[in-house]
Parts: sequence; structure tokens; C-alpha cells
Amino acid sequence: MRRVTNFSAGPSTLPYSVLKKAQAEFTSYQNTGLSILEMSHRSKHFEEILFDTKQLLQKLMNIPNNYQVLFLQGGASLQFSMVPLNLFHRTNHAYYAHTGTWSEKAIQEARKMGEVTMISSSEDKAFTYIPPIHLPNHPSADYIHITTNNTIEGTRYDTIPNEFDIPLVADMSSNILSEVYDVTKFGLIYAGAQKNIGPAGLTIVIIRDDLIGKAPQNCPTMLDYSTYVKTKSLYNTPPTFSIYMTKLVLEWLQKQGGVEGIEKVNKEKARLLYSFLDHSPLFHSKVEPKFRSIMNIPFTTYNAELDQLFIQTALEHDFLELQGHRSTGGMRASLYNAMSIESVRKLVDFMKLFEQSYLLEGNYVSNKDL
Ligand SMILES: *Cc1c(COP(=O)(O)O)cnc(C)c1O
Repeated sequence: MRRVTNFSAGPSTLPYSVLKKAQAEFTSYQNTGLSILEMSHRSKHFEEILFDTKQLLQKLMNIPNNYQVLFLQGGASLQFSMVPLNLFHRTNHAYYAHTGTWSEKAIQEARKMGEVTMISSSEDKAFTYIPPIHLPNHPSADYIHITTNNTIEGTRYDTIPNEFDIPLVADMSSNILSEVYDVTKFGLIYAGAQKNIGPAGLTIVIIRDDLIGKAPQNCPTMLDYSTYVKTKSLYNTPPTFSIYMTKLVLEWLQKQGGVEGIEKVNKEKARLLYSFLDHSPLFHSKVEPKFRSIMNIPFTTYNAELDQLFIQTALEHDFLELQGHRSTGGMRASLYNAMSIESVRKLVDFMKLFEQSYLLEGNYVSNKDL
């Protein structure tokens, strides 16, 4: 059966063993005679899946008891609105770090609900680094918002700023579970599942107890975190199949040695690609080494036509979705947890070949030479 190497930024590649397991259970889950897709979200089987998924996540991320794990929908994008809606309660003011396209969207949404101060920005250098956070002398805000990994620009916080008395909120959509984080540094963490957790449709929120129940009286029930706390994420029908798939992915992750184990693999994958880029006469990374993402790695030849030729040639060799985001151009390889070291080695070997033929031929690589 044909399987390509999929470098998509999201929805992204899933472990093959997880797909096979889901396939085997697809028409009759654990001999129940029905598929998860057909099963009531209030059935014993599904409630068990939901419980197990939550427990696995708590264990993998070492989430303390004073945090709640919520299963929501609407993607990380809905969290851009739910975070200010639920957390604005005292000052109606928040601090945001502006580190790329996604933080920009988060800021736009928060501004609809209160005052936003941009406490740092890397816009001056096209978001190729992570700017330090400087709070004013007498800081006053309901929360600070950062994006731990900037999916489009390929940057990541190398350390988490946590010397503040104000709750830290993190959009962790593209690097949750990729490396060990100390959850206690955060007041709230959110992530869309389709990058590093499972399929699209599920959004995970990890929220500290003291931040629950602050939403205004007129907050719609479905947008209030406390609704999901009170009902154990079963106020209405959750994305049942996405949750089931997430459970399988988390079980797989546990077998990889958990987050500690996968972090080592992820760092080795990133090292392989960056060290090639740093020595390549053709391909380059624009991101400051200290702030380079280990999940999303943008690169370019600085020649739009050649970039296109590379993407096209790669596609013909079953390397999928290597084009950069439509806003940045160039290339991007997303190396989420489910991407194997072998696949990254294959990509680097292919890039070497492309480079050699390009340098030999001057300016043209014909497909048959590769
Ligand atoms: C993909 C992404 C989003 C948007 O996620 P949706 O689930 O599509 O809403 C937000 N933030 C970051 C960092 C992302 O990578």
C-alpha cells in the first residue's frame, strides 16, 4: 500500500500503527458490534475512552491536580476568543507577545473584548526570533499570552518566561507534547489537536482551578470553561472519534518513552535538518539558531522559482506538503512527533541530491537525474 512522507503543518501525519489499530476497530469497537462513529457519547464505552484519554494526557504532561483538562471544539482559533472572554475579569486588560501570524490573530480577537498591550514583538525582523518580554513597572493585567511555537515562522521559546505574578496563557497548538514543559508555569494551555495530538475537531484546554468561573454572567454557556469543568467535557456531544484517535496517539506516545522520549527523537530530527541547512550552499534557514523550532522548519533557496522546482520535484518523490505557508513562501518541513527519524534522513538525502544536481547543472535539475 502506498504511504507518502507527509510534512504537512496540520492536519498532519499520524503514527501508522495508530491508523492500523483504528482500522481494525473501525466497524466493531472491542466487539461491541458498532463503530465509535455510531456510539452514544454517553455510553459506558465512550465515557471510558474519554476518561482514559484525559488520564493519559495528565500522565504524559505531568499535569497537577489543581488543573483541569477540557475537551472542546472550534480549534485553537476559538480559544483566541474564549481566553479573553473567560479571563478578562479584573482589569479587562491583557499582555500579548507578538511573535507571528497566529499571535496576531489572537491579539485581534482579544482586542474585541478588552485592552491589549503588546509587550514584545519580533515583527522588525520578520518574526525570525523570539523577543524578550518586558513588563511595565507596575504591571496590571488579567493574563500574559504567548505562542510557544510559531508554526508558520518556525520559532519557539527556548525558555518559558515565568517570573511574573500574572497568569501565563500559552497557545501550544504546534508543539504540545513535543518536549517537556512544566505545566505549573502556566495558568492556561490550549492546543488544536490536528498538529501533534490527533485528528482535527478536538481542542484541548488545560486550565488552573483559580482561573475557572471568571466568565461574565452573559457568557454563552458553550463558551464558558466552567461548563466543561462541571460536565466533564460532556455538556453536549464532543468530537467522539477525534477523542478516540487521540487516545490511540497518546498510547503510542507512551510507548515512545513519553514526552521525554519523543523530545530526544524530535531534537535529533531537527538537528539533522538544521545541520544540513547550515552547511548547504543552496538551502538556508532564516531563523536565529537560539529560537529555532524543532517542529516546523522553514527554509528557502532565496529563489522563488527554484523553491517551486524543489517542491515539485520533492512531490514527485512522495515528499508531500513541503511548500511554505502561503504568507511566507519558500519551504517548510513540519516534523511532528509522528514523523520518524528515518523520514527526516530520507528528506535530507533527497535535498543533498537535489543540491548536487543543481550545482552540477548550473540552474536546472531534471527529474530523471534524481
Ligand atoms: C494551527 C494553529 C492555530 C489555529 O488552529 P485551528 O485549530 O485551525 O484553529 C493557532 N495557533 C497555532 C500556533 C497554530 O499552529
